[in-house]
Amino acid sequence: METIHWEAHGQALKKNYIYRTFLVKFVHDKLPVGKTIARYKDTYDHRCPSCYEDQEDRTHFLRCPHPDRTKWHLKLATAIRKRCENLPTRPYLMEILIAGLVHWFQDTTFPQDDYPAQYHDLIDQQEHLGWNQLFLGRFSTLWGDLQNSHLRHSPTTAGTQSGTSWILSMILTIWTEVQQQWAVRNAVNHGDTDATSLGAKFSQVLRETEALYNLKPTTLPSNHYIFYPSLAIHQATITTYTGLRAWVDNWRPVFLRSVKDAAEQGVTHQQAIEQYFPPAEDTTQEDPPD
Ligand SMILES: [Zn+2]
Repeated sequence: METIHWEAHGQALKKNYIYRTFLVKFVHDKLPVGKTIARYKDTYDHRCPSCYEDQEDRTHFLRCPHPDRTKWHLKLATAIRKRCENLPTRPYLMEILIAGLVHWFQDTTFPQDDYPAQYHDLIDQQEHLGWNQLFLGRFSTLWGDLQNSHLRHSPTTAGTQSGTSWILSMILTIWTEVQQQWAVRNAVNHGDTDATSLGAKFSQVLRETEALYNLKPTTLPSNHYIFYPSLAIHQATITTYTGLRAWVDNWRPVFLRSVKDAAEQGVTHQQAIEQYFPPAEDTTQEDPPD
């Protein structure tokens, strides 16, 4: 049974020219959220830039519980309310729409019994589709049907409005807010103050350092002296951002070359022996360069 109002969805995607690229990525789940970018490069941060939850995905982008990010729940509800005030809107539709989004944000059950029985089919159907689908412009067809029957009893619109045009307006309102929320999320990610900017740079260089330590077993044994005995010791020894950055930038090309050489020279046998007879004491290695 077809229950999504695809006509309004299609019109919305065609209509929104300014943010079209963003919206197409958003709807098709291709936004560069943490989980997605971490797949391109393992040193990219997979976490939410606001609350550091692991594997930030599209759902988390919308539902992040950080106080700076939940401000948009009210902002979104206000935008919908304002838009509905300027359109002939069946009053309960606006209430159900806002309540559905709020309950999804808070992960709570929709209180169906708070609404008259004639809206229960709509609530059931949208619940079945998922309230989160509203963000993607996927409204149940019943929104359109109920709005149409409201318009038939509203002589002021003179046929310029329809259930489809109402859903379209709601989708565009939601998408404008989603786009703005993406800008809020990115401002956090790129560091909007000096302190947060340095924090982000620190995290990045530590991830790159860790990635190089992960390469250690595949580098030439003659390069192992460059590493500290462990990543923890490395971090405890080089404590400034510039120091950490210099180590990574200085040694990364050497290590990448070393991995290639080790593979060509077939030193895997030697590594196997090393693993079989591990050095008695890591700390007997030469002093690593700083
Ligand atoms: Zn978050």
